[in-house]
This record gives sequence, structure tokens and C-alpha cells, in this order.
Amino acid sequence: LTCRTKFLFFHSPHSFTGDDVIEIHVPGSPALLKMILQCLTAHGARLAYPGEFTARAFFNGRIGLSQAEAVNEMISARSDAQLIASRRLLDGELHRRCLALREQIIELLSLVELSLDFSDQDIQPATPENLKKLLQTAISDIENLLMQSPRWEQLQHLPRVVLAGAPNAGKSTLINALSCVNRSIVSHISGTTRDLLTVPMKLPYGECLLIDTAGLEFQDIFDPVDSIQMQMREQAILALQQADLIIWVMDIAQPENNPDPHSVIPVIKAPCLIAANKIDLIESLSVTSKALYSYKTIYISALRGDNLDSLVRQIAACLHDSPAGGDGPALTTRQRKALEDCLGSLRQSDNILSDNEIENELFALELREALDHLGLLTGETAAEDVLHHIFSRFCLGK
Ligand code: GDP
Repeated sequence: LTCRTKFLFFHSPHSFTGDDVIEIHVPGSPALLKMILQCLTAHGARLAYPGEFTARAFFNGRIGLSQAEAVNEMISARSDAQLIASRRLLDGELHRRCLALREQIIELLSLVELSLDFSDQDIQPATPENLKKLLQTAISDIENLLMQSPRWEQLQHLPRVVLAGAPNAGKSTLINALSCVNRSIVSHISGTTRDLLTVPMKLPYGECLLIDTAGLEFQDIFDPVDSIQMQMREQAILALQQADLIIWVMDIAQPENNPDPHSVIPVIKAPCLIAANKIDLIESLSVTSKALYSYKTIYISALRGDNLDSLVRQIAACLHDSPAGGDGPALTTRQRKALEDCLGSLRQSDNILSDNEIENELFALELREALDHLGLLTGETAAEDVLHHIFSRFCLGK
């Protein structure tokens, strides 16, 4: 070659894959690259299969399975949030947390097996209280991980929380109070707000978008009278259809004005929370004002700020239960399922925990199952078809 060329040699195991690797650095001319590849393949080299470098790194123990998945997620990231999340996954955050969990379960298992193997000898068996304490730590570690971790697919957009309800119920006041930004015009004249207002809101973990459909009159939905109302109706219905969560705001001081959300808007599919507003206007919650619908209801005063913290907590909980986000490592459906199965086995073992020897065997069995589920994340127990599925998704020889 007559151009400036650099050869970098990475001795095994000090390369990404753990194999001996040579990197050839040349000016980025496609013609030159083609020439080099032809020359190398003529001497017996071949192009890497899709995902081969990552697969080699995984099989050589250089990276965990979740990190291998992160390489592909990074290549196919469609938003900044996905790019950042895949970087975190690649840095091994999930892998490290899974290894720590694995250590906890192995410690539990060894304690139980010691009691089983040497039950006839003079060895102090682990007490059920001891085991329970260790088990509870592992359970709450997984619960936290699942709680804090957004779903991968949802990182394409922030979760959308749509506020809807009767005019004058207090939607604009609530959106101002929740977002701490006074962008929504609050007025006692019904129908003041003319278009959808969107503001970000911080949650205990992560963020969501609050979308206000204020100004949408119920009769407009079925019988819009002019083109502005028609457009508002379309915007509001679209927002409701795309919502991850709906907050149905009600004026509790005027219960007769509060229709059932589902009877009003048949397009609602998202989970729904009721914000029963204006509790400052009523002396006490009467039976009728309490008998709202079959949704979780939080009694608030948007104006005075009463109970807004519990409303925010409920929003966060609904979004975490449904597909929303947090600031833990983002989990793909496969990873979330493996963690949930692991949690299921740990909870099962918690149920059968006792100082009885036979049940200890069952306990150990459940713990081994929990380890197997966790192994699907770290890679130890991932079957060939699972690995094939993961690596076949790569479209490059990375
Ligand atoms: P929207 O049409 O649903 O957006 O309702 P607004 O937020 O514009 O509120 C309508 C009226 O109700 C305004 O005069 C607000 O000040 C008032 N309001 C809103 N929330 C409360 C509340 O918690 N208590 C009381 N007393 N008034 C409220």
C-alpha cells in the first residue's frame, strides 16, 4: 500500500472479542477498502457473520449476554434515550446487578444445601429467619430493578399522561401545579383552552409528558359545532388513543357534572386514574362523592396542592406497571421476562421456607430455578436457540 496505513495488534485476551485481533487503519476510501478486503480474502480470510464479533466476545467470556444485546440495541437505536440506555447496558450495569443477585442466591443455596447435606452431623443449620432475611434482600433488589427500569420499546418517546374531564374540573390548574410551570391559562370561563398543551413532568424515576385536553366539551365529542371544535376533538381523541395513562379530572364539589370517562369517550384503552379535585370546597367526603368509578381515585385540591404528591406517586406506579420509564437500565421484553420469572421463583421459595428438611429441598429447588432464570440474562443458562435468536438479529458483522 502506498498510503499511510496503521496496523494495531491486540494480543489475546486484550481485545474486544478476547481473540488475537489486528486492526488496519487506512483512509476511508471505499475503493481502497474493497481492494484490502479482496487481498485478505484471497489469502484465506473471510468476512465476519452478522454479530460474530459480539458473539465471540460473549463466548470468550469478555462480555455478558445483556452487553452483547446492547451492541445490537445501540446499532438500531432510534432515539437519544435508546442510545443512552444501550450505552449503559453495554457498560454492563444490568450484567453487574444480575451477577450481584446471583451471588445472593448462591449464598442462600449454599446455606440450605449445607443444612441438607450435613443434617446428621453437628453443623449449625441456617435458621429460617436468616434465610428469610437474605431472601427478602434478593427479592427487593429484583423488585427495585424492575420498578426503576423502563421498557426498551418505550424509550422512543416519554410516557404520555393525558388529562381529560369536564370543563372547569381543574385540568389546567392541575397541569400547572404538577409541572410547576404556569403555561396553561386557568380560567373560570368554561372552554378557555383551545389547543392541547404539553409539558414535561419529573417523576420519582424519570420523566413523563403531561398533555392537557382542557376545553374539550363533552357534546363536542359527538356533535362538534364548528371546524375549531372539530379539530380540537380530533386532537383530543388522538391524544387519548396514544396515551400511556389517562388522568380523569373530576370536580368533586359538583358530582352531577362528572360523567363516567368510558361512557363519554369510547376510545380510551389506556389505564385511567381519577383525580377527584376541589376537596377544599367540600366539608367531608360523602358516600356519593366517594362512590366514583371502578378506577383508582385520588382526592386532591389542585388549587391548594393537597395530595398532589400521592397523585404523582400513583402516576409513577401506573407508568411503571404499564410500559413506562424509570432511570434504571432499560430492559428488553426478554430481559424483563427473565427477571420476572426469577422473582416468581424467589417468591415461591419464600412461601415454602421452613425449617423442615423436605421443604428445604423444595426451597433449594426453587432457588436453582431462580438461578436458571437469572442465567438467561447473564448467559449461563441461555439455550442455543435463545443465543441464536439474539445474535441473528444483528445485520452487521459487529
Ligand atoms: P379546566 O377547564 O378543567 O382546565 O379547569 P381550570 O383549571 O381552568 O379551573 C376552572 C376553575 O376551577 C378555576 O377558577 C380554578 O381556579 C378552579 N379550580 C381548579 N382547581 C381547584 C381546586 O382544587 N379547588 C378550588 N376551589 N378551585 C379550583
